[in-house]
Amino acid sequence: MTDAVTTTFQQNLRGLLVQPADADYNSVRALYNGMIDKRPRLIARCVDTADVIAAVNFARQQNLLVAIRGGGHNGPGLGSCNDGLMIDLSLMKGVRVDQAARTVRVEPGCTSGDVDHATHPFGLAVPFGIVSTTGVAGLTLGGGTGYLTREHGLTVDNLLEADVVLADGRVVTASERDHADLFWAIRGGGGNFGVVTSFLFQAHPVNTVYAGPIFWDAVHAKQIMRAYRDFLPAAPEEVGIFIGLKTVLSMDPFPREAWGKRACAIIGACNAPAEAAKRMLAPLLEALPAPIFNWMSEMPFPAINGLFDPFVPKGLQWYWKGDFVKTLSNEAIDTHIAEAAKAPTELCLMHLYPIDGAVRRVARDATPWAARDATFSMVIAGISPDPKDADALKAWGRAYWKAVHPYNMGGGYVNFMFDDEADGRLQATYGRENYARLATAKMQYDPTNLFRVNQNIAPAAL
Ligand SMILES: Cc1cc2nc3c(=O)[nH]c(=O)nc-3n(C[C@H](O)[C@H](O)[C@H](O)COP(=O)(O)OP(=O)(O)OC[C@H]3O[C@@H](n4cnc5c(N)ncnc54)[C@H](O)[C@@H]3O)c2cc1C
Repeated sequence: MTDAVTTTFQQNLRGLLVQPADADYNSVRALYNGMIDKRPRLIARCVDTADVIAAVNFARQQNLLVAIRGGGHNGPGLGSCNDGLMIDLSLMKGVRVDQAARTVRVEPGCTSGDVDHATHPFGLAVPFGIVSTTGVAGLTLGGGTGYLTREHGLTVDNLLEADVVLADGRVVTASERDHADLFWAIRGGGGNFGVVTSFLFQAHPVNTVYAGPIFWDAVHAKQIMRAYRDFLPAAPEEVGIFIGLKTVLSMDPFPREAWGKRACAIIGACNAPAEAAKRMLAPLLEALPAPIFNWMSEMPFPAINGLFDPFVPKGLQWYWKGDFVKTLSNEAIDTHIAEAAKAPTELCLMHLYPIDGAVRRVARDATPWAARDATFSMVIAGISPDPKDADALKAWGRAYWKAVHPYNMGGGYVNFMFDDEADGRLQATYGRENYARLATAKMQYDPTNLFRVNQNIAPAAL
């Protein structure tokens, strides 16, 4: 690739082209996960669809490895690559709410916090995740679970339409009506099929929620996990709570006397007025011992989505393992408690997010995201501010996963996977039929596998 070719590419862009010699190269290439240190040859800081088309055409013509970055939150850093082109969408942050239709048009550089902020004044929200700095694009394309999932489904269940720049540089709008096979594939199949430059979501009435964390001493973990498991199936769908095994962080605002204590936590948001939410939670909470603290209170929905942001700033070390869980047996709970207790740092966690309610009302083959018969999506995350802990985080996460995996389903949520999964994990995740259909869509829309920096689906053989 000559300088002239690169110069012509820059001339085709309205955004900047960042190269290793540029002063801002290191800050622009930095990802959320500090464990990942990838060095792209070029970073195209796209500002509009025309820039994305130019970048895709350039990568294809120059035979460059290409990565797509939305929010940059992906665990194994699949928003970047070594020695290739990063298509950086993080500057494309437009959001437009259609109040009457209750829909939201979102550009691919938005975080979920950006969208919550825009929809909240209209008393609306889209179901995203539990941390506001997570990118909407990667989260959506992998599926998307969070506080509103029980009531309103996965993020992909609320996707109405997407504009996609394909590997050959064409732009199409995918919906149930147009390019329905592509629309099906991007609702869980990740960034395999093209670069999404615009998402249209269905939003729902959500305003103030009764939300926050409740932490108990881990000595009660067995009782709390069993009670949560038994309570959830009959709980109203407005109750969007998940359970975790964690440590009380040794920092404000946590009570000093509990710093460093192993804990079991229930964290969530009930989309209901406080008094009604308390009544919904009462059958669970009244049967449990006194917590270390209960900080559930009424708050605007964007506040619960941003509540944990200060504890997980950009640049920490992260190692992830996930699984879908159908039945949380007493034996599995005991194994969780034993493994979680071995966590090498205070930030390490295990969360079980509910998969029920509205998720179950969508057919298994309606989207590639097939685990609609699961009860939970589990994540084990080894986290530390110190790069020296990287090996310990991986060792802990892998050993914990190995111990609990026999109790779980074969697959896991693609957005909770690292880049070290065994062969067959994606097939187990999507199911045989959905995986075959994804491979067919990949063959149709990206036959040369230009978009392969992702949880990759190989194009089906002709
Ligand atoms: C702190 C934290 C909390 C999280 N909480 C949740 C949660 O509550 N619920 C949940 O579901 N997930 C959660 N996740 C996981 C999250 O969904 C993934 O990390 C996801 O990949 C993040 O998307 P991103 O756009 O930020 O990622 P990026 O790193 O920018 O991109 C990840 C991948 O997505 C693809 N991609 C990104 N943008 C586009 C695009 N516009 N077009 C095509 N492909 C694209 C690319 O293939 C890329 O490889 C969390 C992650 C973190 C770090």
